[in-house]
Amino acid sequence: RLPVPAHKPPRITAFANQKGGVGKTTSAINLAAALAQSRRVLLIDLDPQGNASTGLGIPRHERGAGSYAALAGGQSLAALTRPTMLDKLTILPADPDLAGAEVELAATERREHRLADALAVPDMAGFDDIFIDCPPSLGLLTLNALVAADSVLVPLQCEFFALEGVSQITRTIDRVARSLNPRLALEGILLTMFDRRNNLSELVAADVRAFFGAKVFATVIPRNIRLSEAPSHGLPIALYDPRSPGTAAYEALAVEFLARRKMAR
Ligand code: ADP
Ligand code: MG
Repeated sequence: RLPVPAHKPPRITAFANQKGGVGKTTSAINLAAALAQSRRVLLIDLDPQGNASTGLGIPRHERGAGSYAALAGGQSLAALTRPTMLDKLTILPADPDLAGAEVELAATERREHRLADALAVPDMAGFDDIFIDCPPSLGLLTLNALVAADSVLVPLQCEFFALEGVSQITRTIDRVARSLNPRLALEGILLTMFDRRNNLSELVAADVRAFFGAKVFATVIPRNIRLSEAPSHGLPIALYDPRSPGTAAYEALAVEFLARRKMAR
């Protein structure tokens, strides 16, 4: 008799965009923290910069084996993850070695599937959501995230040429879906650092919505200085400044994210 799984398998979402500074890490941390009020969330820091780890209170000098050790294999994932200040939020930090991972991975077997393989273990059944914070490139680390993921959330900064940038990641998603991971879908495009006083923000947002329609989240993340301060305190925005517009925005995003999931089922 087959054992009955206690939970649905976790839903895996990659936060990806080959551009740096568009709000991948900020969105991964703060959406994860907002969801962790009701769901058990694992955040995987796959960026050698380790910003998601620092932003959740694990500075570089306190990092040991982490996501790279998971990619390399041979260590149980449960032993590599760490608790955070939030009960239901767990992190797999970026280890200091992650910078060399791209090169070393290139020479391994099943090199695009290392993360997917690492996550395909019973340990992971305790999570409802797994988020992967990707580096700002479309190299082997991001490819591993896209092969492991069910969907991709693409943060997009409202600036000139935003649409051109986003077509590169959507083409990559299509290509991975055709060749390596047929499950992969575009979860949605998230407009970030939106500045209502700036006409360009409005214009870019209108353009992106005209092109991607319902794939664009209705929730828009405003430019909010508190969001940029929170990581230096090692805190998600909701703990750093619960009354800030940034907190309200990521709360609203969490509600929309869950509502869309329900509709998709
Ligand atoms: P990425 O992970 O795509 O490189 P980050 O999330 O690290 O982008 O964001 C880039 C920088 O912008 C960081 O310094 C971050 O604190 C800041 N930032 C992100 N989102 C906002 C926002 N909505 N308002 C103000 N600053 C933001
Ligand atoms: Mg980042």
